[in-house]
Amino acid sequence: MESACIFCKIAAGEASAALVYQDEQVTAFRDIHPVAPTHILIVPRRHIVSVNQASAEDEAVLGRLFLAAGKIAAQEGIALGGYRLIVNTNAHAGQTVFHLHMHLIGGQPLRYPMG
Ligand code: 5GP
Ligand code: ZN
Repeated sequence: MESACIFCKIAAGEASAALVYQDEQVTAFRDIHPVAPTHILIVPRRHIVSVNQASAEDEAVLGRLFLAAGKIAAQEGIALGGYRLIVNTNAHAGQTVFHLHMHLIGGQPLRYPMG
């Protein structure tokens, strides 16, 4: 747990967020600045800075992010319509929170590429 990290705090229940899913490895909550009707962040409960810092011991939790995304998409009713999963890394991708997270975005047709 990085005490200065907002996503560590949310995962630990020490900061508030609109939680949509939680298991022993990942936590998911609504983005405070949604870019689409459904915009959820799925994060490992353990602090990983970005994909650049992910290692072999993170393999299970990285897989869990995808499985959680599928469950949440079904729960949100957007699985059939479709959705996008995004993991931003460092400046060129616009990463602003340095605790690895997967964006689950959907609920409307999405343009691609974005930005
Ligand atoms: P990034 O650009 O790093 O991939 O995305 C970070 C995301 O986290 C942004 O979409 C931003 O709106 C969201 N975010 C930042 N701080 C908070 C927070 O305290 N609570 C929630 N729910 N979302 C946050
Ligand atoms: Zn963290």
